[in-house]
Amino acid sequence: MNPLLTIENLDVYYGSIHALKGISFAVNEGEVVSLIGANGAGKTTTLRAISGIVPSQGHIRFRGEDLNKVSTFKRVGLGIAQSPEGRGVFPQMSVLENLEMGAYSRSDKVKIKQDLEMCLTLFPRMKERMSQMAGTLSGGEQQMLAISRALMAKPRLLLLDEPSLGLAPLIVAQIFEIVKKLNQEEGMTVLLVEQNARMALKISQRAYVLECGRIVMQDSAHNLLNNDEVRKSYLGV
Ligand code: ATP
Repeated sequence: MNPLLTIENLDVYYGSIHALKGISFAVNEGEVVSLIGANGAGKTTTLRAISGIVPSQGHIRFRGEDLNKVSTFKRVGLGIAQSPEGRGVFPQMSVLENLEMGAYSRSDKVKIKQDLEMCLTLFPRMKERMSQMAGTLSGGEQQMLAISRALMAKPRLLLLDEPSLGLAPLIVAQIFEIVKKLNQEEGMTVLLVEQNARMALKISQRAYVLECGRIVMQDSAHNLLNNDEVRKSYLGV
């Protein structure tokens, strides 16, 4: 397997809070990998460190290149795009403008148009709402827009933070189905952060369990779904 992303001894501090304590893991090309864990375990922090939004110590390698000195902007250009927790769409901009913002690091107009079509095929709801202000979309629609906006950067690695947060079960199922499709049909590599561990594990090949800033378990998603400790702590069984 080809590691697309390799994380080695990653530490993140917020002032005196040691949020990530030397974590190491990898994501291979073509995989969906989940990070699961309780509130405050460090899942979002891990994604933000990979995007370069928070400073970190240790090594983040993407396609073999050390990202230590690479800006957030350049990381997007290299192929890392994040769909943030809480969605973070631009509320005063239309759906189309939000999607165009996702492609701001690109200049290949023809391919941008093709990717826009791909997003609208995946999320037909967006097509009906192209001129609507993003802030007036429902929660589920905003989540779909946030994922589409990340896809408009044409990432090699999609970082998805809590796509199910605050959404009705039916919408959550739809969104997870689309992530699965993106992986299976488009070959998209995904690093997924989720509180809904069951849903996450169902569409992942592998997962890491984070506890208080450390990785305490790693295995195939299948094994973790059947692991007693995981079932008790994260699957509510
Ligand atoms: P959740 O599922 O609740 O979002 P998480 O696993 O994503 O949790 P993080 O948001 O990464 O956890 O937070 C890890 C730790 O870092 C927590 O103790 C949190 O309080 C702390 N933390 C996160 N962001 C900041 C910040 N901007 N300033 C100070 N501490 C922070």
